[in-house]
Amino acid sequence: MSGQPSVTELLQRNERLSAWHRPQKYFAELNTPNKPKILIVSCLDPRSAPEEIFGLQHAEALSFRNVGGKVDSIINDLVSLDFMLNCENVIVIHHTDCALLHFTADNVRQKLQQQLPEVTKMEVDSLALPEFSELEESVREDVRTLKNYKFLRQGLKDGVLGFVYDVKSGLLKKIE
Ligand SMILES: [Zn+2]
Repeated sequence: MSGQPSVTELLQRNERLSAWHRPQKYFAELNTPNKPKILIVSCLDPRSAPEEIFGLQHAEALSFRNVGGKVDSIINDLVSLDFMLNCENVIVIHHTDCALLHFTADNVRQKLQQQLPEVTKMEVDSLALPEFSELEESVREDVRTLKNYKFLRQGLKDGVLGFVYDVKSGLLKKIE
């Protein structure tokens, strides 16, 4: 037993919590839509939660969370969101002791080969997976990826910022 809740337990919680739920407004019901101007891309590691890093209140910024906080898998989501929100900044955050520093994409590929014998080595090798071996360089790489992406507005590209978050000190370091 891990002590972590099961899906069944979470669904029971949801039912209980719904008793206190305040109905949210639909877009059509909002007089002045409260549009976040800042998009954050960060790792889904619980130690790297933007709400806690910045003390975010409801809807003050929107966060993408994925493995490592790499931008490749969500870059087109940024394009769609910017269409709706006309955002000012994209903040990329990678954090110290990230799991990606503890295994490589090739480790994942090797395990996949064992688990999925029907998949060829060439197919596994061509699978795009998140990876980095050096934090600051990875942030620079993602900032470059965003600034060079042809489908992002220049105005938003100008607002791209990269940081490393130190999970021990709670401080962000801006990466130039
Ligand atoms: Zn991480």
